[in-house]
Amino acid sequence: METSIDCAVELLRQAKHVTVFTGAGISVESGIPPFRGENGLWNQYDPRVLELEYFYAQPELSWKAIKAIFYDFFGKAKPNLAHEILARMERNGQIKSIITQNIDNLHFEAGSENVYEFHGNSQRLICRECGRIYKPEEINLDKAVPSCHTDGAMLKPDFVFFGEGIPEEAHTNSFSEADKADVFLIIGTTGEVVPASMIPKIAKQNGAKIIEINLEPSLYTIETTDVYLQGKACEIMSELDKRLRV
Ligand code: NAD
Repeated sequence: METSIDCAVELLRQAKHVTVFTGAGISVESGIPPFRGENGLWNQYDPRVLELEYFYAQPELSWKAIKAIFYDFFGKAKPNLAHEILARMERNGQIKSIITQNIDNLHFEAGSENVYEFHGNSQRLICRECGRIYKPEEINLDKAVPSCHTDGAMLKPDFVFFGEGIPEEAHTNSFSEADKADVFLIIGTTGEVVPASMIPKIAKQNGAKIIEINLEPSLYTIETTDVYLQGKACEIMSELDKRLRV
């Protein structure tokens, strides 16, 4: 395994189809902690609030935590330099798409367009009865259980809860983008969440070179990664961007 940034720059320069795969680590510098680990959200909240069964059985308890995490807290976060550089790289034709496990909307907010949200998006809410979609600012989030303006049914944040399947379109597009990649850039993910964790492995099987940026080694680092760049997403992305411009 290589660890030189020059090696990553060379791969990115020569690539015809770069697909990016992001996890919670890319948003840490926007102030959003990962779920797990020392400062993870699950040290403050009970993960059961995001289980589908629990959500329907105890909607008031689930909604209280969901509002605090995803609207009072996530809602205020802004894209960071790493999100912005990726958006610019897409506009410049240097990357084709981003597959993200994140549900914070920050890639779209930064201006990226070809984003496949494998786990959905918290900044969208859906009525499971009529399918109407809302932005958080369109509904009263102070209600114990926010409801649809059309039929009064309970709203659900449009991200994948524990016990829920991956949205079909995002699933198909993500695996297809992994298939097409000749260079696959992983940023800030442990590789522990299934089936998302399979995506980089598909890229590798199809001959893509794998570049990984992470603060610490992940499940990919030894077996899947070709070039490992250790550090914070913003620092490494700005260094890559600087060298790619020369
Ligand atoms: P994870 O929490 O399992 O791992 C985060 C990874 O990011 C770790 O490998 C860590 O070393 C790395 N990291 C931390 N800070 C970093 C930095 N500044 N720069 C680069 N890397 C850094 O995250 P995951 O593997 O993405 O899985 C967690 C699941 O939880 C995801 O599927 C996602 O849906 C969800 N989640 C989303 C958000 C979000 O939307 N921002 C936040 C937390 C969790």
